[in-house]
Amino acid sequence: MEINELIFATSNANKVSEVNKLLPKNIQVHSLKDIGFTDELPETQDTIEGNAIQKAETLYKLIGKDCFAEDTGLIVPALNGEPGVYSARYAGPQKNDQDNMNLLLKNLQDHSDRSAYFKTVIALFIDGKHFTFEGRAEGRIIESPRGDQGFGYDPIFLPNDYNTTFAEMNMSEKGSISHRAKALQLLIEHLAKL
Ligand code: IMP
Repeated sequence: MEINELIFATSNANKVSEVNKLLPKNIQVHSLKDIGFTDELPETQDTIEGNAIQKAETLYKLIGKDCFAEDTGLIVPALNGEPGVYSARYAGPQKNDQDNMNLLLKNLQDHSDRSAYFKTVIALFIDGKHFTFEGRAEGRIIESPRGDQGFGYDPIFLPNDYNTTFAEMNMSEKGSISHRAKALQLLIEHLAKL
């Protein structure tokens, strides 16, 4: 079965361009904005996997097209896995990147273990079946933000074996080692086998 069109259940333009850079050219990925879908998709589960599946399943049932959704969280073991599934609204419903980073830095102040990892789960709904793919990027949280590229917690995340934060890398550097890239690679390998 050949797939040439997939809908990515996101309105985050940053994520769509990251994904389009990584997928083979014969697969066109369209965002919710591209297809004129403006409703909010529910994300009410208490796990990253649960939210990815919920978003993709809701969209699949609404539009009847092959689609995938992803959910990502930053997991900090010293904070019992926080912000985790609540990464986007860690500092409140305003979902502000700066507020989220400030709260994380404050909560980590007295901890010597600053290790952290991003975890992405992609849920693919295709032909009535669903599959999940997981990618991780391991690193640590630095003391103060560095860099102005990327988004979210990028300025305070230093990936293992690198001296630059995700926000100091350009999109293709980050795209070669990111959690999302790894999950996407598994999605691509899966699509290639269909
Ligand atoms: P979402 O569920 O993918 O929308 O992301 C949840 C939260 O994690 C949001 O606060 C995002 O800003 C953050 N996030 C997701 N992906 C990344 C990333 O690649 N770098 C930094 N933060 C991210």
